[in-house]
Amino acid sequence: MNKRQFLMASAAATLATPFVQTAWAQQDASVGPSGPTASPFDVTGRIRGYRVDSVRNHSINTYFIGGSEGTVAIDTLWRIPEAEEALNAFPALTGRATSEISAILITHMHSDHYGGLETYRAAASGAPAFSTDVVRRVIQNDEHGFYANRIEDFGSDIPSEIPVPEVGLEHAQTFESGGVELDVSVLRANEALETALLYAPEERVLFSADLVNNKTTPVFYQGELDSWLNQLKKLRSLFPDAQVIAPGHGPAGDFDTLVADQIAYLETFRSLVEAELEVGDGAILEDGVSRIKSTIVDAFPDWRTSAGVPSRDRLIELNIGWTLQGWRLSGQSSSNPRQFREN
Ligand SMILES: [Zn+2]
Repeated sequence: MNKRQFLMASAAATLATPFVQTAWAQQDASVGPSGPTASPFDVTGRIRGYRVDSVRNHSINTYFIGGSEGTVAIDTLWRIPEAEEALNAFPALTGRATSEISAILITHMHSDHYGGLETYRAAASGAPAFSTDVVRRVIQNDEHGFYANRIEDFGSDIPSEIPVPEVGLEHAQTFESGGVELDVSVLRANEALETALLYAPEERVLFSADLVNNKTTPVFYQGELDSWLNQLKKLRSLFPDAQVIAPGHGPAGDFDTLVADQIAYLETFRSLVEAELEVGDGAILEDGVSRIKSTIVDAFPDWRTSAGVPSRDRLIELNIGWTLQGWRLSGQSSSNPRQFREN
């Protein structure tokens, strides 16, 4: 499938599968839209994606790239059931056995991307899992406290031991496994403390992790809105030949469209927060929070929640708090991971 065919196919798929509201979402619009049910999808050529719709309105992607001597898996979903679902679909999706997975790559340290790692490693006959050094360190030490929180939430649906990748992704290096080559670019201070972007030059596909998602409410937990925006604006110059983005959340799509959408959301959010700071003379009033929520939801109506926060409205409230903290306008600590599960 060439780029034009791909775009037409994704446009047709979007038209064919309008957002369906769950019963819960119909009762409460603040939850936001629910996407289509879990499904495999073709990215391009030898790249296959699998989207899992999980608890709390959460949609997450995993990817498989078929090489001449193995398959590279990118990200492993957030719990054992989701990982099992994707791995059960793997043979039909790739025409291979999961034992042919030769390497597992983890793009960043958020548990919705590495929670299923142990399940993947077992299905792949112990294939190695790799991340950057910083991502490995943060996961191993549970520096955000995400993992402890997930165990509280999900019990035995999460491995009791933190699954830790080894160091194998480095900035400006090419990662090679099973006949698959991926160019690695590491960017810091964006959606995550650190994000490894993986680029497949032959297919012109960028695996963007959560730096660029598709119709998914971004998470400003790091308080790095400005740095993240700057990186998005430079992304085209870093990947001059890229055509397709395979995101962490939401369907794959045209590189420039998805980057422009992500920039538009971040810029709209930033200007709304700045305007409300003017109104509130340096603080955001309660009315201001409501205005920001309703304006951003009107501007981006079909964007789903993410980060395990059940309601889109709640995630936007958290985003306001994290942004103010990032700008040193609020001394309140609002980084307890328990907040992620509040409705
Ligand atoms: Zn994510």
